[in-house]
Amino acid sequence: MKNNHKMEIIVKDIPEEGLELDFDAGRTPWFLQVLRDALGKQHAKEDRAQGHLSLLRIGENIDCEGRVECDCHPTCCRCLKVFHHHLDVPVHQILAPLYESERQLKLEQKEEVELVKEDLEFAYYENDRFDLGDMVREQIILSLPLQPLCQEACKGLCPVCGKNLNEGPCQCKARDVQTRRIPLKAFKRG
Ligand SMILES: [Zn+2]
Ligand SMILES: [Zn+2]
Repeated sequence: MKNNHKMEIIVKDIPEEGLELDFDAGRTPWFLQVLRDALGKQHAKEDRAQGHLSLLRIGENIDCEGRVECDCHPTCCRCLKVFHHHLDVPVHQILAPLYESERQLKLEQKEEVELVKEDLEFAYYENDRFDLGDMVREQIILSLPLQPLCQEACKGLCPVCGKNLNEGPCQCKARDVQTRRIPLKAFKRG
């Protein structure tokens, strides 16, 4: 049985002029599965997600370029609030046949050193085919922030009472400040 969550690309089936792919979480089962695998609960049913990729054969390599965008809801690592985040993932990857990988790396170093931009990544395919879903999932995971923050200046939670300090100061902080001020005043008077 064919797994409809896979997006298998047969290299020789990519036409001469290239292959243009548009996908959307609402109507592309393999892409929805990729989002679920990559984001888990961070991606809700109503979150929008879409992408576009152009695949072009260059000799035996495949130049894969495009963009994936999606909405997600990560949890802030400081205040634990779930917040909205828009992921914008530029994709530019060269896929080379695995048996050629060594030769390819040498060629890359010798001839293409100036063409290789920092956003250009290499990967390999085997047996004349690859799963585009695997590639897209990997790119999404790589673009996820390791320590998501609801805002740069998130104040986090009070370690004593657990209040979200973005919503205002808590009582224990006020008490803490008072007790620190008393000895300071005493010192000045003396
Ligand atoms: Zn936060
Ligand atoms: Zn507190």
